[in-house]
Amino acid sequence: MLTRRDLRRCQALVAGLPLPQPFSVPALVDAIAARRGRPIHVRTLPPGSGVSVCGAWIRLATADVVYVEEKTSRVHREHIVLHEIGHLLCDHSGAGGGAHPLARVLPDLSPELIERLLTRTGYTTEEEQEAELVASLIRTAAQARATWTTTGALREFETALGLRGTWE
Ligand SMILES: [Zn+2]
Repeated sequence: MLTRRDLRRCQALVAGLPLPQPFSVPALVDAIAARRGRPIHVRTLPPGSGVSVCGAWIRLATADVVYVEEKTSRVHREHIVLHEIGHLLCDHSGAGGGAHPLARVLPDLSPELIERLLTRTGYTTEEEQEAELVASLIRTAAQARATWTTTGALREFETALGLRGTWE
């Protein structure tokens, strides 16, 4: 179970993200990559791979790769990307144990990469919950900002607080 402390840490993490405007998942991925100084590649899982995961994050020496299931809706794909980005931002390492299912189906994997994959499987329940939480917090933050700027809610709020005069 996630604690209050975990929640606050995730909230702080998302609050510190360079949320692009207008928001889009690819733009956010680019912004995070630029800030980390490491490219993040989003790729689709090889078709017919039979891999029973819908997404995966693989850390390479000089870049990060997020794999996402191809045959699903755009919304679900974006959610998978945000979930994997959640693992990346929280720097989850997984509990280890067992070969990563992707190792079987990605033919261009170097032995070094496969070694990394082997050690990066089996996230704990807490890590999964945390990644999921970060994904939904990003969504919420992006939606809140979009609503405030497009509907004039910010303006109304400021007026209500007396920060704006009615003559404006
Ligand atoms: Zn996960």
